[in-house]
Amino acid sequence: MPDLPLYNARADADLALFSNPAFRPTGVQKLGLALVGLGLAAFVVALASPFGAAHPVPFALAAFGGLGLGGVVYGLGGLAAPAGVRNEGTMVSSNEARGAVGWAIGLALTALYVVLYFWPAGLAGLLPLADPLSRLMRDQPATLGNGGQWFLYTTLYTLAVAVMGVRALVRYRHSRYHVIRTLSVMFFQTVLAFALPFFLVTLQQPELYVHYTWPLDYDLFFPWRVAELRAEGQLGVAMLVWGVVMIAVATPVLTYFFGKRWYCSWVCGCGGLAETAGDPYRHLSDKSLGAWKLERWLVHGVLATITAATLLLWVAAVAEVGWLDAVAETVSWLYGLLIGSIFAGVVGVGFYPLLGSRVWCRFGCPMAAILGLQQRFFSRFRITTNGGQCISCGQCSAYCEMGIDVKWYAQRGQNVVRASCVGCGVCATVCPRGVLRLENGPDVGGASRAGRPVNNLIEDLDILA
Ligand code: SF4
Ligand code: SF4
Repeated sequence: MPDLPLYNARADADLALFSNPAFRPTGVQKLGLALVGLGLAAFVVALASPFGAAHPVPFALAAFGGLGLGGVVYGLGGLAAPAGVRNEGTMVSSNEARGAVGWAIGLALTALYVVLYFWPAGLAGLLPLADPLSRLMRDQPATLGNGGQWFLYTTLYTLAVAVMGVRALVRYRHSRYHVIRTLSVMFFQTVLAFALPFFLVTLQQPELYVHYTWPLDYDLFFPWRVAELRAEGQLGVAMLVWGVVMIAVATPVLTYFFGKRWYCSWVCGCGGLAETAGDPYRHLSDKSLGAWKLERWLVHGVLATITAATLLLWVAAVAEVGWLDAVAETVSWLYGLLIGSIFAGVVGVGFYPLLGSRVWCRFGCPMAAILGLQQRFFSRFRITTNGGQCISCGQCSAYCEMGIDVKWYAQRGQNVVRASCVGCGVCATVCPRGVLRLENGPDVGGASRAGRPVNNLIEDLDILA
């Protein structure tokens, strides 16, 4: 069986540049798509005319309601189809295999991020739509002066996780693991990344995101931020202490027991978006050896850079050396621009339909780098493989969002112990032979590390008996 099309999805111009020949939306799904279209139209009209500002409430209802309700209705329409990942045109779909629709969505998302980060005034026409909710949630209007564009962005981000989360729940409804994991990321995004921070603002408290810590929240331990949090009183100091506990204690302990999945696939907002809104694009990850090499250099390079920048800032602040301060300031500014804005935002999400849903997690996230090192060298988490059952169909590799060639391990009966694996579990779910199992119990066979064959001989003998 030639596996190239499955591994490297690309739109066949003759087949599906503009469509997916296997896509047959049900009546419910058509209704959902129509409502989504209404929501998008409301955003476009508000952006291009004064009507949105003149009638913020009806426009907000049409825009957010259309996107939210339409997305949920569309997702629920999936109940008419069998659960699970199906190869019904995925690899020749215009949207899901880098055809015209995929490129259009990618360009639109990228443009949105560029405007958000570098020309927020370009979003002024949309802020009135966020205004009613902003007044309700954080007791202030949504204006450029008070971060209204970020409130609008967080609202849309949370809506995307919630709506596409419904789609993921429907798609993976046959798997308890996926249902709980999807509910988990929906909860963390809605409560800890949206409701709680803005509720704190209404109480005149700092806007805190308690599930993020350094180095993902890259300036948390910068001297100026530490001073700012200390000045904000008990809650600010508690946040600093919590940040230290999270990175120094909770992270290694939880990763030892569960692998990096406890964070990357259950808690993190970036992972949450990837697992929900990014799910249709998970197969677009690059599976080549070159990509694996690049991944290791980049992700550890980013971690080294932010560590060096943080240390330099402190040395400069304590020693009061002017030139060192200038160097550290420049490095941290460049980090914020190149990594925090361009990589994490513009490329990380904007390129979903082109490079897959985990580009940032795989190539750039310094938190993932720390978790990955812990997972690779002292975690109990591994994916065990029953090589005798593998039929080399390649489904597991095709749908691995981190570009891991799972089939290679399965064919050899070796455990998958890779730093990049986020434990999403989709490889195990799509496997038609039940070859793969995510495990974090004690390794009684003594073969949980990479490179050594898993102790599945007994199972093979059972099958042969
Ligand atoms: S190896 Fe499996 S569990 Fe790990 S990231 Fe890939 S698909 Fe997810
Ligand atoms: S492990 Fe399962 S999905 Fe992967 S190649 Fe083997 S049979 Fe196919």
